[in-house]
Amino acid sequence: MPRALITGITGQDGSYLTELLLDKSYEVHGIVRPNSLLEHSNLKHLYHAPAIYNRRLFLHPTSLEDYGAMWRIVTEAEPSEVYHLAGQTHVGLSFELVESTCELSAMGTLRLLELLRDLKVPPRFFHASSSEIFGKPETGPQDENTPFRPITPYGCAKAFATNIVSVYRRTFNLFACNGILYNHESPRRGENFVTQKICLAAAAIKEGRQNDLVLGNTASERDWGDARDYVRGMWLALQHPTPEDFMFATGELHSVQEVIEIAFAAVNLDWRQYVKTDAKLLRPEDPARLVGNPSKATEKLRWTRSTTFKQLMTEMTLAGLKEKH
Ligand code: GDP
Repeated sequence: MPRALITGITGQDGSYLTELLLDKSYEVHGIVRPNSLLEHSNLKHLYHAPAIYNRRLFLHPTSLEDYGAMWRIVTEAEPSEVYHLAGQTHVGLSFELVESTCELSAMGTLRLLELLRDLKVPPRFFHASSSEIFGKPETGPQDENTPFRPITPYGCAKAFATNIVSVYRRTFNLFACNGILYNHESPRRGENFVTQKICLAAAAIKEGRQNDLVLGNTASERDWGDARDYVRGMWLALQHPTPEDFMFATGELHSVQEVIEIAFAAVNLDWRQYVKTDAKLLRPEDPARLVGNPSKATEKLRWTRSTTFKQLMTEMTLAGLKEKH
């Protein structure tokens, strides 16, 4: 039975990756924060499944910063694959939580690599990097060779982590890969990300639970994919014969405005009556024209996406409905 260790296992990606690996007969170990409320997390269905929890899925409450504790978990679980997904991943918040964002995303990655480097047989290592490393790129679509020019604290932390993964791959011979992930969404996306904020608001307004929706820059554009496709990409990257970096993206740009229109149309509402903007929600800096070229992953890993943007936004909106309509 192959064994995997996931940091950030309770997040959107961690929970989908756990399901994928359990389906593939892995034993899955996850790092969770000591005070994590698992009953309310994205893993609650697995946590309450007696055939799985503590049989094929093991959760270790610890802090990534605790080297000794991490060392014990890694040497006891002996994973053959490590997926490093943990971090403070909200870009807007990273302007306020600069130090903890960098501590978790930059130093957290380095500490994990240091630990793996000391093992006799280091596991394969996947780092969830981000399109934020490109900032405001001059070229589009970006690919694995586009220079890093981050413009947000989160982007800076991720640029460091991505570079240090490459350094450990080259100099210490670790099987370490970066997945450069563009925004990816699902019904499990955190509520402070714009797609989920809009989709949940449209559903709540439909059901009379909310009156309006206040947003920042609705002209902002992103390359939004489906999280379930991106975790499949992570697994494929570690099955590849050689450690390489791969970009996971859709190659399509859509605006926040388009998300609004699809979400409100999904519940038969006219968005003009409910959506407002507030300058307070504008960001000090916001990357522009981040769109990725997934050709390398498509060709070398046979990675493809399974949903369209419209299908995904519609699914997220309908998943937000509490009543049957
Ligand atoms: P990010 O790309 O990781 O920052 O993902 P987000 O979903 O947080 O933001 C995507 C884009 O939506 C950014 O350009 C934001 O500036 C823009 N945006 C506009 N209004 C909002 C809002 O109310 N909340 C969030 N989170 N983003 C917003």
